[in-house]
Order: sequence, then structure tokens, then C-alpha cells
Amino acid sequence: MPPAKNSSLVADLEKVLIDATEIDQRLQALGQEISECYQDKELTVISVINGAIIFTADLIRQIKIPLMLESLRVSSYQNSCAPQTAPALFDAVTLELKGAHVLIIDDILDSGRTLSAVMQHLQSKQPASLKTCVLLDKMCRRDCPLTADFVGFKIPDAFVVGYGLDYAQRYRQLPCIGILKPECYQAPSAKQDSN
Ligand code: 5GP
Ligand code: MG
Repeated sequence: MPPAKNSSLVADLEKVLIDATEIDQRLQALGQEISECYQDKELTVISVINGAIIFTADLIRQIKIPLMLESLRVSSYQNSCAPQTAPALFDAVTLELKGAHVLIIDDILDSGRTLSAVMQHLQSKQPASLKTCVLLDKMCRRDCPLTADFVGFKIPDAFVVGYGLDYAQRYRQLPCIGILKPECYQAPSAKQDSN
């Protein structure tokens, strides 16, 4: 895919759903909610990369209790706006999770297949507790019966980019979350997309 023609990637958006100020404010509240929930405990955060990288980096700085950070790579989209394969997990977690209070942080809960697979995988490591936090929740799209414990924003059923979420690995660095203009969906040259 050639570089975006517009000098500002924001110009590729048809609509901004959530702006940077709203994200910032919501993350402060979410950080407080999580800090209160895990009071007197140490937290192990597992970030589902790549999509949750930016969300995780900002959110953990709003969490006021001790925590350890790990990441887990999951891939299923392959340069598309819809999943192309079942979620594939690449687990390089080295921390001991047995007996740990684990909080999974993901970018978006859609069908629920990704988070269900991640939960099932991490549950087998016998954590003391296992909870989930997602930036975005497309509630109407659920295939797996799954409710996230902490949710940033509920959004309508639309493919969104920005603040870590990509289309064909682009647009992750947008400070806001929005919907791309139709002409910005092109056959990408990149080989692999990961969540
Ligand atoms: P699920 O497995 O719940 O259907 O989808 C979760 C994963 O799919 C997310 O972690 C994300 O990587 C990807 N995904 C789902 N919806 C969107 C979307 O609207 N935009 C982007 N960029 N990725 C999405
Ligand atoms: Mg993801």
C-alpha cells in the first residue's frame, strides 16, 4: 500500500467516533476503577498486541497499584476488515501466572472469539483471578457469550481504526478512534496483519 496521500492521517477518516480528550478522560476513570478493584493486590497485566499497545501504555499509567506487564500476540485479520482465520496465539509470557491476579487488556471486543481463546489459554496457567479490560465493545456482534469486566467505550457495529487499532497495519498512531473513508480501503501489500 502506498503511503497515505494526506499529510494528516486524520483526513482519511470519514468520521471521528471518539476523540483524544474523551479517551484521556475515560482512561483516568478506568484506571481508578481498576486500582480500586485490585486494592492490596499485585496485578499482572497481559496486553494483547499489537492492537492494545497504545491503550495499555496509557492505561497502566493511570493504575495506581503495583503491577507487572507482559504481552501476548494474537493474529486473525490478515490485512482485512474481518477475521480471516481462527485466532492464533503466540505466547512468549515468561512471568509465573499460577496464583497471580491477571488482567487481560485488549483493544476491542467484537465476536468475542479472540478474548475467549486468550482467556482459555491463560486459565490453564491457574491464575488466582482472571479478568478482562477492553477499550471498545461492539456489543451487538457477540458470537461467544463474553462480557468484559472493564470497558472503555461501547461502540456501534463499524470497522474502526486509530489509538492502536489498524487497517492493514496502518493508522495505529491516530490519537482518536474513527471510521475510514471508503477510498482508503485498498489491497495492501503487507503480508501479515496481527491484532
Ligand atoms: P473478535 O475476536 O472479538 O471478533 O475480535 C477481536 C479482535 O479483532 C480485536 O482484538 C481486533 O484486533 C480485531 N477487531 C475487531 N473489530 C475491529 C475493528 O473494528 N477494527 C480493527 N482495527 N480491529 C478490529
Ligand atoms: Mg486485538
